[in-house]
Amino acid sequence: MDRKEQILELIAQGYRSVKALAQHFGVSLMTIYRDVRELEKQGRIVRKHGELLLKEEAGEVPEEGVPTCAYCTKPIEKRLEFVYRLKKGRQVRACCAHCGLLLYKNLRQEDIESCMTWDFINCKPISCFSAWYVVGSSAIPCCTPSAIAFALKEDAEKFAKGFGGAVLNFEEAVEMVEKLMRRGSAVKLEL
Ligand SMILES: [Zn+2]
Ligand SMILES: [Zn+2]
Repeated sequence: MDRKEQILELIAQGYRSVKALAQHFGVSLMTIYRDVRELEKQGRIVRKHGELLLKEEAGEVPEEGVPTCAYCTKPIEKRLEFVYRLKKGRQVRACCAHCGLLLYKNLRQEDIESCMTWDFINCKPISCFSAWYVVGSSAIPCCTPSAIAFALKEDAEKFAKGFGGAVLNFEEAVEMVEKLMRRGSAVKLEL
């Protein structure tokens, strides 16, 4: 295998620095720099905060460095972000729970170490897997059909009373968002 192909593979495995790569191959930093620069020019990797990332992990990184959604490429607003932490320090970020839930099946489940998002009411960090979701409500903070995360089932139920939508746990919400996307977001929920 060509060294540049190997470098891509190593970055995918979690190698993040030119130094680590140089040590792996037993070559000089300069040699790796050259490869990295070529890969960068080809648009296959990006350098972000001094770390090497595959293009697809970094999403489309605009000049100003605003992170974008790995699913729909929208710029990510912090209060709605949905972040999977994978092994070896990799992250997959989505703009909101809608995209985050849709990304779930695209990830290798054994790679996922944790996932966090923010409670819609009190803006505290919560684990995506234990959160409750209101899916398909009339409140659309980001993508449709909307999925909004809450730490407490009680809050989700109160929210759904006002704005409609179904109150679901993580697995149910993954299935529901997928189903709604297949049928088109205009479909009314039957609850
Ligand atoms: Zn998105
Ligand atoms: Zn979104």
